Amino acid sequence: MRVRNRVAAYSTLALTLSACFGVPSPLAPGLRGSVGLPSHGVLTNGSQLPESGIGYERYRHANAHYWGVSRLVAAIQKAAAYVDRMLPGGAPLSVGDLSSQYGGKIPNHASHRTGRDVDLLYYVTNVYGHSLKSPGFVSIGSDGLAPDPTNQRFVRLDVERQWLLTRALLTDPQIDLLWMFVSRDVEALVVQHARASGEKTEIIWRAEQVLHQPRDSAPHDDHMHVRIACTPAETLEGCEGGGPHWPWLPDDSNWDDLNVNFIYWIASDDPTPCTPEGATDGKETHLY
Ligand SMILES: [Zn+2]
Repeated sequence: MRVRNRVAAYSTLALTLSACFGVPSPLAPGLRGSVGLPSHGVLTNGSQLPESGIGYERYRHANAHYWGVSRLVAAIQKAAAYVDRMLPGGAPLSVGDLSSQYGGKIPNHASHRTGRDVDLLYYVTNVYGHSLKSPGFVSIGSDGLAPDPTNQRFVRLDVERQWLLTRALLTDPQIDLLWMFVSRDVEALVVQHARASGEKTEIIWRAEQVLHQPRDSAPHDDHMHVRIACTPAETLEGCEGGGPHWPWLPDDSNWDDLNVNFIYWIASDDPTPCTPEGATDGKETHLY
């Protein structure tokens, strides 16, 4: 069995034995950080995204769901600052929910439970191309326009800034980007802009892999949902990722370098029963 598969198998077994979805406990002291699946897990040792910074601000100012693994929080800050540096003077990136401080279910999301997910509202302009503060979750159509309910007008997807943000996250070596859930229309508009602006073919090809309209939820036409992968070290501490291992990410051979010790997981027999917390209730507005 390849090391990666073996790690995943042991991790799954350990999580099954230690609890239904691996809640860290004295009986499972090795579980920490991003624990479990994005739709079925918890978070410890998270970092909180500050209320605002260079090129970004929180969408929900009074909300407590701005916790994530530190490399995701840092990546959001770096990417927003990069967009601001490349195109100064624009409206800030509006950042939606990450996770709660200790993970688990938060309202309106099926995932966002392990600190590896974040919703980023789209950059928009007015119809004349001037950058505008995001009016909120507005649905971008195939023409790049969205009705703005606050003033009966339309806003337009700011493809230039949206591409810069996509590029910054895609090429950040600290986060192994797994997915960017968007709508097909937004993907087409952003990728078309990247091509027209002379972007490297390799970067465009990567973007085409990770930009994705999920099949099992509504098209993400009003925000981009970003999910990062578990690192090998995080996997040993209970992180479960799934998803593709993109060819540009670090090679599997890195996993061989880790000194793996599964004994304390397998010996754990925490009897905590499964709770409905891990299940969706069918009332989600954002399935991701
Ligand atoms: Zn989301």
